[in-house]
Amino acid sequence: PEVAHRIAAGEVIERPASAVKELVENSLDAGATRVEVDVEDGGISLIRVTDDGHGMSADDAERAVAEHATSKIRTADDLARVESLGFRGEALHAIGSVSHLALTTNARGTAGPGFRVGVRAGETVEAGPASHPPGTTVEARELFLNLPVRRGFLGTVRAEANAVATVVQALALGRPDVGFFLRSDGRGVLALPAAADLRERVAQVHGLSLARGLVTLEDPVVWGLVSPLEVSFPTRRHLHVCVNGRVVDTDSFAPAIARAYADLLPKGRHPAAFLRLDLGPGEVDVNVHPAKSAVRLRGGRSAYPLVVGTIRAALSPERG
Ligand code: ADP
Ligand code: MG
Repeated sequence: PEVAHRIAAGEVIERPASAVKELVENSLDAGATRVEVDVEDGGISLIRVTDDGHGMSADDAERAVAEHATSKIRTADDLARVESLGFRGEALHAIGSVSHLALTTNARGTAGPGFRVGVRAGETVEAGPASHPPGTTVEARELFLNLPVRRGFLGTVRAEANAVATVVQALALGRPDVGFFLRSDGRGVLALPAAADLRERVAQVHGLSLARGLVTLEDPVVWGLVSPLEVSFPTRRHLHVCVNGRVVDTDSFAPAIARAYADLLPKGRHPAAFLRLDLGPGEVDVNVHPAKSAVRLRGGRSAYPLVVGTIRAALSPERG
């Protein structure tokens, strides 16, 4: 069972960036207004995520590193309505079974100093009082220390560090209202204080000149910002999609975005698009893949025509 655990953990946590994504999503689920991420050696030696969210009681902290402990889902009905980013209760346990993990936390609004629980390759090795301001810090050291094969499959330190930055940037575009700070080997990589809205966050990430020219999508279900016809890029890297507040893989939306701009952009050029789809929680099936980035509309219905139509209407209102 121990080996099976480690293998399962390796599937949830593919590389440092996947651990960072899970930890930052936990911070967002905890209502954080500021999330700090520190990595060393691309996250292989160290990942540290600190938030100012609601924190955990000592009991909850011990439970959180145990297998399949989630505070977010209690019944099957909850699962159909899931609005938090996490809901499987396996990320902390998975990270703890393939690293040296320390979780230090202090429940907001309580008097105690805080609490710390340490896990080494799946075994709880310490638990007791520790000082921490309201919020939580999770540290994972020596990722995949006991999974040499997985460790061998990792990219270079630089590739892993870039993947971490990409993940933090994507999560930051999903939550303009939250401050995100990323340091890599002590060097500041991202410093994104809480922004007023999506346009301001895009400006922080991609620069003011891109942000300023973006066209606003007006549909109540599909909204966000897209580039005007006179702005385009040689790659598809300026795409970002959130469905019900969850950052999702842009691959499933790229064809619809491309279709909306077909015959409007020069050959080989791609738009920027920062899309939000707000569907009823019951209308989206997020329970498709452990990494949770795949999204299927309920009943296999496609968002394609809606996305194409909304972008088209915003680009050329007179033609519709
Ligand atoms: P999930 O997010 O699917 O519930 P996780 O393994 O990621 O599962 O986390 C387990 C539980 O630990 C969460 O349900 C939550 O109660 C608690 N938790 C984890 N990270 C934090 C955090 N940063 N702040 C507050 N609580 C947290
Ligand atoms: Mg989680």
